[in-house]
Amino acid sequence: MTTDPGSERQGNVDPREAGKFDALAARWWDPEGEFRTLHHINGPRVEYIAARTELPNRAVLDIGCGGGILSEALARAGARVTGIDVAGKPLAVARMHQLESGLDIDYREVTAETLASESPGGFDVVCCLEMLEHVPDPVSVVVAAAELTKPGGDLFFSTINRSPLAWAAAIAGAEYVLGLLPRGTHRYDRLIRPEELARACRDAGLDVLDISGMDYNPFSHTVHVGSRPRVNYLLHARKPE
Ligand code: SAH
Repeated sequence: MTTDPGSERQGNVDPREAGKFDALAARWWDPEGEFRTLHHINGPRVEYIAARTELPNRAVLDIGCGGGILSEALARAGARVTGIDVAGKPLAVARMHQLESGLDIDYREVTAETLASESPGGFDVVCCLEMLEHVPDPVSVVVAAAELTKPGGDLFFSTINRSPLAWAAAIAGAEYVLGLLPRGTHRYDRLIRPEELARACRDAGLDVLDISGMDYNPFSHTVHVGSRPRVNYLLHARKPE
């Protein structure tokens, strides 16, 4: 996992990435739309988080929240959720959708790095799911996430491994053969090996407690969490007291 100095960027943001998510924002909550796999994996992701930390009444940050699929589920579990993203249109969708859902989530257009300088240690739990593979410098996001977490707090990351199998499943299979994701959603060089993410966490002063594969079956739309991290995976870390 390296920084990507060659790409056009503003802060730690790739404008092409934010543009991709802006363009599709209206489709965010369509269960048959471009983000359907996020809907399919959401329940298992939240179960993983809820099994490993307390959610009710705790301050939880969702970094790269998009249209709010994870933020809403965390709020339903009783958390006080802040969702941040750099794409304005998905955030507008998230703000509208929470009214329909009757939830009270604080959505803000800000980077993790900027929020970390404003509110260090501001959150009991920090989640950053399916987002690191879209930023030029994922290490900087991990460092910011660690700064944003209270001592003793929990962090959850998920992303996609960088391996021939992950390329075959997550890019060739999902984007080109099965059409599960729009073409160009993921770039191979931005994928992150589990050991690279674990090292970034340890370098940021975190203890890595678990890495679990999150295997998605594109035919049954079911998810199995707990295998070896071959393609998609979740990581749980904790900030020492
Ligand atoms: N985390 C959500 C959405 C994943 S899609 C979920 O799993 O349900 C990836 C999201 O990351 C998009 O909303 C995109 O706008 C956002 N993103 C991309 N670059 C970002 C950055 N540098 N900082 C914050 N969010 C970013």
